[in-house]
Amino acid sequence: MAKFIFVTGGVTSSLGKGIIAASLAKLLQARGLRCTIQKFDPYINVDPGTLNPYEHGECFVTEDGAETDLDLGHYERFLNIFTTQANNVTTGRIYQTVINKEREGAYLGKTVQVIPHITDEIKRRMLLLGKDDKYDVVLTEIGGTVGDIESLPFIEAVRQLQWELPEEDCLVVHLTLIPYLKAAKELKTKPTQHSVKLMSENGVHPDILVCRTEEPLNHEIKRKIAQFCNVKVEAVIEAADASTIYEVPLAMMREQLDVICMKKMNIPPTKEPDLSKWKQFLDKLKYPKSKVTIGLIGKYIELQDAYKSILESFIHAGAINECKVQVVNVHSEFISDENVAEKLDGLDGLLVAPGFGHRGIEGKIVAVKFARENNLPFFGICLGMQMAVIEYGRNMLGLENAHSTEMDSHTQHPVINLMEEQKKIKAMGGTMRLGAYPCTIKKGTLAYEIYGTTQISERHRHRYEFNNDYLQQYEEAGVVFSGLNADTRLVEIMEIPGHPFFIGVQYHPELKSTVENPAPLFVHFINAAKRHNDRRSTIKNPLLQSEMI
Ligand code: GLN
Repeated sequence: MAKFIFVTGGVTSSLGKGIIAASLAKLLQARGLRCTIQKFDPYINVDPGTLNPYEHGECFVTEDGAETDLDLGHYERFLNIFTTQANNVTTGRIYQTVINKEREGAYLGKTVQVIPHITDEIKRRMLLLGKDDKYDVVLTEIGGTVGDIESLPFIEAVRQLQWELPEEDCLVVHLTLIPYLKAAKELKTKPTQHSVKLMSENGVHPDILVCRTEEPLNHEIKRKIAQFCNVKVEAVIEAADASTIYEVPLAMMREQLDVICMKKMNIPPTKEPDLSKWKQFLDKLKYPKSKVTIGLIGKYIELQDAYKSILESFIHAGAINECKVQVVNVHSEFISDENVAEKLDGLDGLLVAPGFGHRGIEGKIVAVKFARENNLPFFGICLGMQMAVIEYGRNMLGLENAHSTEMDSHTQHPVINLMEEQKKIKAMGGTMRLGAYPCTIKKGTLAYEIYGTTQISERHRHRYEFNNDYLQQYEEAGVVFSGLNADTRLVEIMEIPGHPFFIGVQYHPELKSTVENPAPLFVHFINAAKRHNDRRSTIKNPLLQSEMI
């Protein structure tokens, strides 16, 4: 049976539990242990699929089509593993299971209660991934902050497991904050003491405290925290602010978080973690040789978390290209024919982001046109590809007011249409075309050059598709549909030959980009942006131009 590590959070939200959990898992994995991470979220939505990105940031989609919390993206990017539906559980899903069982009569006339029925279901799911000898360690991140009413059943489940499991099989890591008061020039331990006390009142005693801090924790402070929170001094771990989240595993290694966890769980010492690949990546990230500026066109740009996986993919792709990728957010609602040249001035590439609904659509179409006509590298993801199709239809095929039926259900030219299997679906949750689907790539295309193979699999999250009634017209007008689903003939990739880099994909390549395996589309897009940047500097600097001639 696997060992279980629970990661809770105290004092405030946004301390980075997901990153700490992922970093610890990375270190254990680098020592040769088989690890996975799951997240338990205290909200009532069955999954985050129906949440507006402004609420919880991006919805991360797994291979098996689960719509999950964005922290699962961090887990995959750090560990280079796939997660599944089982790795993200919400209060809503727990209650749904219990209520369905109650309706089936499974509780044999008993009163169904939070304790034991809800907590039993939570425990069952907490232990699930530890069965079948697939993993040595299962880490569980508990969403929310200790003290929240809604996380109480999860904390109670952890309490019960701490009691039920052999002592060395269960460990609680509590992430907390040590604020620095500038006026007093002092680090303050009281919020942490209170947070640990709150946990103790609920019967859970943390084994390790990971302390977020802006200032280094000296031995005296660590001793004080240890004494008042009842943990060993070496179990007080400093988590200082880092310049990038990818530094955190190394910072945790310096603090020996993995060593103390293994000691407490009675795991025999292993070889030192092998993080050589990780360090190579970090070196390239920190010391880039060039720089490109990419415009990210979207409608949720005020909120960085809404495009988390895309931004992280740029970091991975930038590092491998030894190039700093500066992402400039451009709000699609404010782009028009009149200001597009000015808004997109100085860019080396344009990414039109995924999205839903009508807001900001025309701005995206104008931006695509600008990129197409000005040889600016263009990369459209999901809605971004759909916008490229509409733009080409309107401006190159003369299909007046061509549109997606998502935005205009009566359009004369529905070049993007609801998928056949979507037409009868009314419910919103979990009903899109979700998860991994295969795609066959045509040889001799940009997509083939990028992937280097004819068979790929990428993840999806959409209801609308390219309308194949228009396929021939588009092909005759120069568009190449370089990737199709072999079974359904759904268009997966479109590109425009002759342009330095113009590609749109119906799927989400950003969901499979990891530190060790950057998504090929992003890698090539950044490469194209570098070439564009070179072209721009040559044009700006005629001296260079003549030298080249
Ligand atoms: N709204 C579009 C659709 O449902 C695109 C979705 C997306 O960008 N993820 O097809």
